[in-house]
Order: sequence, then structure tokens, then C-alpha cells
Amino acid sequence: MKAEIIAVGTELLLGQIVNTNAQYLSQGLAQLGIDVYFQTVVGDNETRVLEAFKLASSRADLVISTGGIGPTQDDLTKDVIGKFVGLELELHEPSMDKITEMFASRGIHMVESNKRQALMLSGSHPLSNETGLAVGNCLTHEGTHFVVLPGPPREMKPMFDKHAVPWIRGIMGNAIPLRSRMLKFAGIGESALEDRLIDLIENQSDPSIAPYAKEGEVAIRLTTKAWTDEEADAKFLTIETEIRSRLGNHLYADQDITLEEAVLTLLEQQNKTFTAAESCTGGLLGEMVTAIPGSSKSFKGGVICYTNELKHKLVGVPEQLLEGVDSPGAVSPEVAESLAAGMKLAAGSDYAISITGVAGPSESEGKPVGLVYVGIADDHGHVHAVKLQLIGNREGIRLRAAKSALYQLWKLLAGK
Ligand code: ATP
Ligand code: MG
Repeated sequence: MKAEIIAVGTELLLGQIVNTNAQYLSQGLAQLGIDVYFQTVVGDNETRVLEAFKLASSRADLVISTGGIGPTQDDLTKDVIGKFVGLELELHEPSMDKITEMFASRGIHMVESNKRQALMLSGSHPLSNETGLAVGNCLTHEGTHFVVLPGPPREMKPMFDKHAVPWIRGIMGNAIPLRSRMLKFAGIGESALEDRLIDLIENQSDPSIAPYAKEGEVAIRLTTKAWTDEEADAKFLTIETEIRSRLGNHLYADQDITLEEAVLTLLEQQNKTFTAAESCTGGLLGEMVTAIPGSSKSFKGGVICYTNELKHKLVGVPEQLLEGVDSPGAVSPEVAESLAAGMKLAAGSDYAISITGVAGPSESEGKPVGLVYVGIADDHGHVHAVKLQLIGNREGIRLRAAKSALYQLWKLLAGK
């Protein structure tokens, strides 16, 4: 089944509101295994709304609209569909009673236009509005299914979930729903990942394999059609095992969680804490970690030691490592290790990580843009540094440096 979502509202076209309804509905339809081929946005204009419905029903089996079913003159979605399919609007008595009662209980005079919210397409299936007044509609006309939902998300969502979804399931008959699994990777770029899996990607059939990259992490989505989670699990098993055997030391989760969450989960399971001494990332790692509620159980905090002065004064890096003709300089394995060891000592954490590097745009101390050292002090008193040569602009390098540092910690905790 192919679906199209039509969001009605001039506010959307003016950019005054974001079309979150389309996102919500697309996600809901994906869960049902329904492919959304088009999302349309149209203003509150009768001619253009009609055009949108005509076009949608020419190319989709299921057309879902949101918006334009309120009481005012610009709310014309039901009128337009009525014209399109040749159906009159009639009063839905239970909705009318609810509207009348609502006004009576508040002691407000009900203007005539409010009745419009109780109108439905003659012979259609009403969708009750548990959080508002306007009744929704479902109907099938000449092989196309229509679902008419309100605009306000707090009305649209429950109406869709509770009333439209069961109706859609009914019309779907025996179409098998899509199910997917996210495999999340760290410490490897998108192209390297693709390269390692190229044969699997090129010869994919069922499950399908789609790589993604965003915010310094890469992911693979496996998708298949299955009636139950167990059936889907069985279909994912072979391919997941193969991917794990090739990239197990990068695969940090088989669900859609961030690397920060994976690291915090491991620390919590092992009852360990960590801290961070950040130079070129300026607190970015701390920000990522503390964005997760409950992170204080495992993340004690850290130091932003951007200058050499603070690397020395706050974290205890010897001055001779930082400055002087024969010193290795701030961006060096020695300083990364000293920062990690100093941080662990000062904070009394089980692990400490450090990040020192050149975020750009220009080189520093004669070291190239993108050169980053991550230091790790572990809970056995070992300290080591990892050299990275990252690519990207300043923002990208800082993001990848923070993720790479977390990846190093993840490897230790996961025993990889
Ligand atoms: P109302 O009874 O409020 O008039 P309605 O069904 O007629 O409801 P609209 O008038 O089109 O819907 O929109 C009402 C409000 O709902 C908008 O001001 C906006 O806040 C929200 N809204 C409408 N469409 C969307 C959308 N696609 N995504 C997110 N919010 C939306
Ligand atoms: Mg309205």
C-alpha cells in the first residue's frame, strides 16, 4: 500500500509552523508497513486543496490529511473532499451533542460555525476526537482510502493512534508490516564501513541494508517485512552475525541509541565513573554526556583546559611537556596521556579521557588541522594515547574528536 500525506494550512507554507504532523504520520505508517511516497503541503485555498486531493488519489492508495477541520471559514478540508468524491456533509450527532454540552458547561454562547466541527462526509466512518471537538473521517471512494484528521497535534495524534490505525489495519487486510533494526557504529567512517560491507550491500535482498551517517556516527538500518518481532529477529540474525563478525569492535548497539548512551550504560553496569579533560573540544564531550538524564551516576565532570596555562595549573601537565624548544607541545601523545592521568588523579574517577588537537581552520604549533590525540587512563593505572587524523571543518573535527574519545572509552569498557 502506498500512502500520501496532505498537510493543509497556510501557516505551514508561510513557515510559521513546522509540519510535525507529517513526520508523526510517516513514522506511524512505517510501523504499519505502509510506504509513504509523497508528503504534500497546501494552503487553506479551496482550489488548491482540491488539486492536492486529486493528485494524491491518482498516485496513492491511502490519502491522509491533517488540518482544516475546525470551525472557521478557512477550514474547508471536509467540504473539498465532499465535492471531490460527490458526498454531502451531514451532522454527526454524538459530536454535535459533545460540542453543545461543552459550550453549555462553560456557559458560553455557541456560534453557529461551531456546528461545522460535527460535520462528516455522508456514509463515512467517524473518528472521534478525544482531545478536541472536530470529528475526523475515514472513507473509501473508488479504491482510494481517505483519512481526515485535525491539525492540532494534540488532537491529531490520539485520533490517529486510537481510531485511524485500527481502521487502516482493517483495510490493509493481509499486507505484512515493515520492521527494522538499527546497528550503530563508532570509530569508523561511512565510506570505510561501506567498503567492509560492500558485498552484503550490493547483494542485499531481504533484509535490506541501508547505511546512514549523522552527527559523527554511522548506522546501518536492516529492514524486512514480518508479522511479529520474533519473525523479524530470525530474519535479521544471519546478516547481523555476519556484520558483527566483520565490524564487531565498532558495533556499539543494535538499537537506535547514541554512543554516549552506550558508554553510560556500560559504566553503570560496571559501577564505574569517568571524567574528561578537554582542550580542543571545549566541553563538547561533557555537553554530549550530560545531555543524557542520569549521567551523573557515571560522569563526574571534567575540565576545559584550553590553554597551556590551565593544562598545567588545573590538570598538572608538566610545563616542560607544553613549552620550550624540545617539548612535544600541547598536541602530542605525551600531553594527552598526562592530561588523562592528571584528570583521573585530581578527580578520583575510575577512568579519565583527554582530548587535545588542532580543530582548525589553521594549523597550530606546526601541527596539521585535524591532528587529535585522545588520552585514556584506565582503572588499572594504565595510561595510553591514540592518534587521530580527522577531516572536516572546525565543527566537524570537534564533533568527531569527542565521539572518538568516547569510542576509546567504549572499547575499554566493552573489552574490544
Ligand atoms: P482548529 O480547530 O484548531 O482550527 P484544524 O483541524 O482546522 O483545527 P488548522 O486550523 O489547520 O487545523 O490548524 C490548527 C493548528 O494546528 C495550527 O495553528 C497549528 O498549531 C497546528 N497544526 C496544523 N497543521 C499542523 C501540522 N501539519 N503540523 C504541526 N502542527 C499543525
Ligand atoms: Mg482551523
